[in-house]
Amino acid sequence: MQKRRDSKITIVVRERVEILLSEAHKIAKSNLVRAKRYIKLARRLAEKYRVRFTRVQKMHFCKKCNTPFVPGHNVKIGFDLRAHQIIYECKNCRAVIKFPYKKRKLHKQ
Ligand SMILES: [Zn+2]
Repeated sequence: MQKRRDSKITIVVRERVEILLSEAHKIAKSNLVRAKRYIKLARRLAEKYRVRFTRVQKMHFCKKCNTPFVPGHNVKIGFDLRAHQIIYECKNCRAVIKFPYKKRKLHKQ
């Protein structure tokens, strides 16, 4: 079986995606239009070169309207303790995005 190795392109794309996402967050409050464009570009790049966003990266923008999430500014974060989900509500387009999290094991006494 062939192992998939990261090509040079993948490494560069990953770096660029990282830069675009961090820049989008920096200007999210002052220039939302440009911030959204950065997210869009990052997503397009990732799609084109089949680079996957990490879990943390996925949690940093709205899937529906590409708004970068700034807690306390344009996103409402809640928890569903029973379903083990973190719930993000985008204040821009009212989309609800759920991220599951693992239940931490408690030590038996
Ligand atoms: Zn949204």
